[in-house]
Order: sequence, then C-alpha cells, then structure tokens
Amino acid sequence: MFKESESECIRIRAHHLFCMQGFQGYGYSSEFVANMRLVLESIKASPSGHLELVSECDAICVSCPHKKECSLSDSFLALKIRKMDQLVLEKLGMEEQTVGEAKELFRLVNKKLKNPSDIEEVCGSCRWRQKCLWYLQKNEGN
Ligand code: SF4
Repeated sequence: MFKESESECIRIRAHHLFCMQGFQGYGYSSEFVANMRLVLESIKASPSGHLELVSECDAICVSCPHKKECSLSDSFLALKIRKMDQLVLEKLGMEEQTVGEAKELFRLVNKKLKNPSDIEEVCGSCRWRQKCLWYLQKNEGN
C-alpha cells in the first residue's frame, strides 16, 4: 500500500497519467482501489509535488493482483503494458525517469495526447477503456 512518506516523488507508470485522471472507483480488487485513492489523494493534496515517470511497476501497482506478472521482464502482460508506457513517453518527448510537477505532467499529457488516434494507440484494447476515458470528453475543444 502507498505510504504518505513516499509522496515526495511518486513513481508513476507513464500510461497511468491517463488512468489516474479517469479513475471512478473501478479496479482489479478492493486493495487496488484503496491504494489508487491514496495515491490520488496525495497528488491532489500537493499538485506541485513531483512524479517520476517510469515504465515499470509503480506506486499504483503495489496493491494490484497482477503485480507479479507485470514485474516479470518477459511476460505477455509486462511487455504489453510497458509498451503503453513507452508510447506515452515517446509522444510526450520524454525519457524514462523524467521527474516533473504532477500538475505540469497532467497538463502536458492532456495537451500532447488528445487526438483519438493517440488514445487508440496507447489504450488499445485495455479492459478499462470505457470506464476511464470518459474524462477526455471534458477536455475536448481545449
Ligand atoms: S495491471 Fe500491471 S501495470 Fe496495471 S496496475 Fe496492475 S501491476 Fe500495474
């Protein structure tokens, strides 16, 4: 579970910049949902706090039932999800381990990845797509 003491610089998978904005309380398990809420509360309380963008398990993954599989270097799931992170980083023009203010990283991802084709490419067939991408509609036209 995410701890407040880790909030100085929170490690976040790049594709989770989407998932976090669209979170509505759905998730892989009750532990996952509770942990996601803690991470989001911490970022909301300190929007100028720093995030480190990664393409490996992060502060959200710690309570996920799939963490073991996602932590393997060559499992199907790990490769598929890492590709999502790498695509987001590529489209942002950032290297892995880039550190930035949370509010600035959200602003950039919403600015640079707002075309439906970007979303299609990154999120593909993700099972949460319908549950979490609702928030993009409110950004339309910005
Ligand atoms: S499925 Fe993998 S990448 Fe997604 S939250 Fe779970 S451990 Fe993290």
